[in-house]
Amino acid sequence: MPDSLFPAPHPFLQHCQAALAQMRQEGRYRSFAALAKSRRDFPRYTDSTGRRITVWSSNDYLGLGGSDVLAAAATAAIEAHGVGSGGTRNISGNTPLHEALESELAALHAKPAALVFTSGYVANQAALGTILSSMDGNWHVFSDEKNHNSMIAGMKNARAKSIFRHNDVAHLDALMAAAGPGVNKLVAFESVYSMDGDIAPLAELAATCRRHGALSYLDEVHAVGMYGATGAGVAERDGVLDRIDIVQGTLAKALGCHGGYVAGPAEVIDFLRSAAAGFIFTTSLPPALAAAGLASVRHVKGATALRERHAERAARLKAAFQAAGVRPMPSASHIVPVPVGDAALCREVSRLLLEEHGLYVTPINYPTVPRGTERLRFTPTPRHDDADIAFAAQAVAAVLRQVGLLPNAP
Ligand code: PMP
Repeated sequence: MPDSLFPAPHPFLQHCQAALAQMRQEGRYRSFAALAKSRRDFPRYTDSTGRRITVWSSNDYLGLGGSDVLAAAATAAIEAHGVGSGGTRNISGNTPLHEALESELAALHAKPAALVFTSGYVANQAALGTILSSMDGNWHVFSDEKNHNSMIAGMKNARAKSIFRHNDVAHLDALMAAAGPGVNKLVAFESVYSMDGDIAPLAELAATCRRHGALSYLDEVHAVGMYGATGAGVAERDGVLDRIDIVQGTLAKALGCHGGYVAGPAEVIDFLRSAAAGFIFTTSLPPALAAAGLASVRHVKGATALRERHAERAARLKAAFQAAGVRPMPSASHIVPVPVGDAALCREVSRLLLEEHGLYVTPINYPTVPRGTERLRFTPTPRHDDADIAFAAQAVAAVLRQVGLLPNAP
């Protein structure tokens, strides 16, 4: 007979306690900001005391999440179809909205077909995982060293994998040459890298893929809606849409909605539709999100003025930081990272900005970025006005001075 009604705690509980203590000590413990987004007022949020906070860390890059365009589409779809989709796409979870959304996304990226997944993460994991386990696994995958976790997850079980130095086309070329013929090659990379804000040389990457007969797989998650004449991303901006084989994206960032997708050759998309477990075995996107996604894609195609304002806001924020003595990391995109270089300090800077200046900007720590490169990541939107930008630049300079990261003004 056991001498207690309760069994001894499982060792895993102790493991969790120790791991959490370690994370707290290193400043890596994650806590959520108790902030509520207000639809009409973006980029203002409110905290638990009702105080208004300006958010500088939203991936709702164009501020469309609360727009009437999306809200009206979602509301009408809820009225028509209800909230939950009720099943997988194969089992009663399909609507004409899902299919219209896929046609619209395919057209956006100038591809024959597209397939919607429940998130961008799932799209990458499921599409890459399924492709690389096809053809008896006879694949060699080449991955940019800064690729997102969702792509890494999709490539995890690849039989052969090479990591090329970030955006280094010559290195990729050499690795593919070394791999030799007789194996199917796939190269996975992003366009805008979300933590540094740099942009990949897509034309060169695409040409190298073609030379080695490799499939190119491009994650445009941080570019869709914002780059290119119709917002298709950097591949459109750089005129290489027809030289990229598979494009992956999300509805959850500049499109202000939720869900992920891949677009590409009809037979590849059809194959994924019937073979990707992450597509087949999960409930489809709710109709309201399919409707809002569809409205958003149609809207951003013509949103040139919004794109221009977004780019202008990012340039203005970078200039305001420079003028205030803050040195953001060089960035070719709308993402403006400010280096801090230490996890605990990064948290502290973020806390001071929130508590003393009413600004919310998330600390980016390991494992999202390498240790020693911790940073604050600013994402300006078209809705941050001149006063917001001037205030943020002054506040960041003041806090960096306060923690000793900037010299005191003479
Ligand atoms: N790819 C990249 C490069 C990302 O940064 C993210 C999310 N931050 C994803 C894919 C996943 O997209 P989603 O948020 O729609 O799951």
